[in-house]
Amino acid sequence: MTTTAARWLLRGGTVFDGTDGGIRTGPTSILVDDGVVAWIGADEDAPASDVVIDATDHTVMPGLINGHVHLANSGAADLAAEVRDDSIATAAYRAAANALVTLDAGVTTVKDCGAADNVVVDLGRAIQAGIVPGPRVVAAGRVITMTGGHGHFMGVEADGIDAVRAAVRGQLKQGADFIKAMATGGVLTAGVKPTQTALLRDELAAIVEEAHNAGRRVSTHAIGRDGIENAIHAGVDTIEHGFHLDAELFALAIERGTYLVPTLSAIHGIVAEGERGGIPAWIVDKARSEVERSTAMFRAAVEAGVNIAAGTDAGTPFNPHDGLVEELIQMVEIGLTPARTMLSATRDGAINAGLSALTGTLEVGKAADVIVVDGDPLDDITALRRIVLVAKDGVIHRSALDETSRSSSYGRKVAV
Ligand SMILES: [Zn+2]
Repeated sequence: MTTTAARWLLRGGTVFDGTDGGIRTGPTSILVDDGVVAWIGADEDAPASDVVIDATDHTVMPGLINGHVHLANSGAADLAAEVRDDSIATAAYRAAANALVTLDAGVTTVKDCGAADNVVVDLGRAIQAGIVPGPRVVAAGRVITMTGGHGHFMGVEADGIDAVRAAVRGQLKQGADFIKAMATGGVLTAGVKPTQTALLRDELAAIVEEAHNAGRRVSTHAIGRDGIENAIHAGVDTIEHGFHLDAELFALAIERGTYLVPTLSAIHGIVAEGERGGIPAWIVDKARSEVERSTAMFRAAVEAGVNIAAGTDAGTPFNPHDGLVEELIQMVEIGLTPARTMLSATRDGAINAGLSALTGTLEVGKAADVIVVDGDPLDDITALRRIVLVAKDGVIHRSALDETSRSSSYGRKVAV
């Protein structure tokens, strides 16, 4: 059994605390108490604790943040069909199962970028209440889209300023933590092109005004250039996908502080599986037309210095809920340094989720969202495939590390 104690000491690890992309000097210990990081410092100065977990020769870092998921979807070949065919209860069961897979994979916070009905907003509350296990969920609820626009099958269709204001207010009434709006067409919706504009600049600006007035962030699905430009000028906080970003728009995004969530897994997964995976040809064709651009855009975004938050679009075709580490590996392969990649899934992911006061770094007073990695991901990012401890809000979800307690003076190996 892994400890259920509220107070435990994680001893002697190499700590990437997420504050600046570096490693703290020397073996470092972290005292967790009542869900938060109570103390962090040199191992030799560590306070006493009844429960001690040995992280020697391991890397300790903040729990990962996946900035773009769809918990109510399971990676079926045709997402729209799954949404159409699922009852509300089935979607909720899927979401709960996917939440557990997510947490198992070391992801302690997700931004859910859209689901039919209110299932993921409600799931977030159920996780918070301890009813089911899962990561902290920041949920958009239903997406806001033009009539017939991308994601209309999981959205509120709204056209014109008054209608989009009402749509935002309706989502906030339902408990949405942030607003997701569609600035362009997309790959997974029949009848729209990824490059076409959708909600217009003045509609997006009204959405931003309503959301920001209520203290919520706005994320836009945006693939084509004109739609991305509309979204950044409208003041959105996050561009999802962003495949047609160019040098001019990178500069604008940097000036405005807009985040990019590149979702490389989504587009590459569809192209890799293709029609033989059962994905409808009209989806595969659209993905093929964007896949090379997505890689080239990301490489250029890295060079330009755009704010990047990691996100997979998990739940889209063949895009699993335990795939964030593979996305991070892909980001490093294309050109982001391991340190910046790790920040994109910790500190910067928390900023992008609106949770930087709570999580994303290991600092005194913040949530004890912690993972322990067997190896050094700053040297070899694939070490993140070997996560041996996951804790969220100070509760250890799984651990394979040696643990000793004062009542039992012997060390014991805890099975995963
Ligand atoms: Zn998505």
